[in-house]
Amino acid sequence: MNYLVLARKWRPKSFSEVSGQDHVVKAIQNSLKQNKVHHALLFTGTRGVGKTTIARLFAKSLNCDTGITPEPCGKCESCVSIDEGNFMDLIEVDAASQRGIDDTRDLLENTQYTPTVGRYKVYLIDEVHQLTKEAFNALLKTLEEPPEHMKFLLATTESEKIPITVLSRCLKFNLKKISEEQITQRMKEILDAEKIKYEEGALSIISKSADGSMRDALSLLDQALAYEDYELSENNVIDMLGLIDNKYALSIVQFILNQDSELLREQLDGLDSKHPNYNDVLDNIASIAQEIAYLQVLDASKVDVQDEIIELSNNHSPELIQLIYQIAINSKKDLSLAPSAREGFTMAVLRMFAFQLSDEQSVENRTPDTAQKKIKKSEPLTNGNLETSIISSKNWTNEVSKMDIRGAVKQLASNCSFDHIDNHILYLKIHSENEHQMIDRAVDGLNSFLINQYEEVNKVIIQVEKENGKTLAGEEKIKNEEQIIMNESRASSDPLVQEYVDLFDATIEETK
Ligand SMILES: [Zn+2]
Repeated sequence: MNYLVLARKWRPKSFSEVSGQDHVVKAIQNSLKQNKVHHALLFTGTRGVGKTTIARLFAKSLNCDTGITPEPCGKCESCVSIDEGNFMDLIEVDAASQRGIDDTRDLLENTQYTPTVGRYKVYLIDEVHQLTKEAFNALLKTLEEPPEHMKFLLATTESEKIPITVLSRCLKFNLKKISEEQITQRMKEILDAEKIKYEEGALSIISKSADGSMRDALSLLDQALAYEDYELSENNVIDMLGLIDNKYALSIVQFILNQDSELLREQLDGLDSKHPNYNDVLDNIASIAQEIAYLQVLDASKVDVQDEIIELSNNHSPELIQLIYQIAINSKKDLSLAPSAREGFTMAVLRMFAFQLSDEQSVENRTPDTAQKKIKKSEPLTNGNLETSIISSKNWTNEVSKMDIRGAVKQLASNCSFDHIDNHILYLKIHSENEHQMIDRAVDGLNSFLINQYEEVNKVIIQVEKENGKTLAGEEKIKNEEQIIMNESRASSDPLVQEYVDLFDATIEETK
């Protein structure tokens, strides 16, 4: 195959091919239509989002032989030579390599000359924040009294480093990171046009790794194609990027939550044989915890998740999931301190495992099954004892904590306070800032639970108020704050932490 680097070959040749920057493209095209083009434009945004691409398209719009146009023809001599990078009146400068006063002076001295072939002389200065102070002053002089035939296009990843005097003379466009969907879409267009086969999974992994940069995505795509002879499979992309299949992280979370030490050990050994990037695996674990927590708190009917995640969200406490997330995130910081990344990772996983053990021992809710049995055994929630389970403002939060409900229903109940019961109607209150929790599924679920559970309740009405009484969520928040303080003191007595303190003569810094 006669091969040209994809990023270069597929650089957009018209505004309609630019991905993810509609807001900027629209503004530029409008100014071209109305022929009201500012003499200095500044494009900001992270790398690979299209700053210089848009700047070059703009240069084409100004110099197209068909006239100043929002849709340059792409065929005339000017358009073609701009695409090929040899248009006399488009002067591209990389401020990262030519940052000094002399370079800038040379550059700006030429501005007095009229364009050689085009309508406008266009200066495209990339990474403009790298110019020296003197160079900026020289640039400023030109921007203050720009010659008619000149346009300045400045691009930067760090606009905060540009002097305000220069900034104030530019029209500024903020380019956004490109979404994974938009990157995937563009890669599909390219691969289809190149007649290259691909697996969808491979594309979504690449777009995720590209982190909003189209250029990075296309160069990863290039690498992947070279890696596997112009076919794109998910497994090969995972291999190439040194990624670990998400299934490993999911299994680890499952084995931690199910307290299966045997399978957990096997999984850790299997993972090690893949020589993974342990930082990424911790990221994966944190992402999984986030997905589970999302399901537990928010309306799950709208999200598309794996069955395993749904199962975990139904069977484990939100506090535990939060803990796993927290340990995964915090352990990333510690990886570089650990004797090896593998050992650091293993300690993190063991800590998740151990924390769960202590959590369960103290709370005595090993699994929802046993938790349920416990409540039924010792508490007056069963049918036989209904006469004692009259709810009141006094025992409301205590009752909520024992209710066998989960997810959004539990969340709603935790945020409601007891108001009064009148004529078998239970009136609850919820603070207006929690009104979003009153999704139909949760309200219906809570109503039917309360009606079934308490004889005196035939109907439930939840009123949204500006203030709220005692809620379980409120009480737990106070408890959690106490827990954080306890955890901090636990951290200082953790033998591993103590070892680091001794070893490095360190002090423990508390973060909130
Ligand atoms: Zn043209």
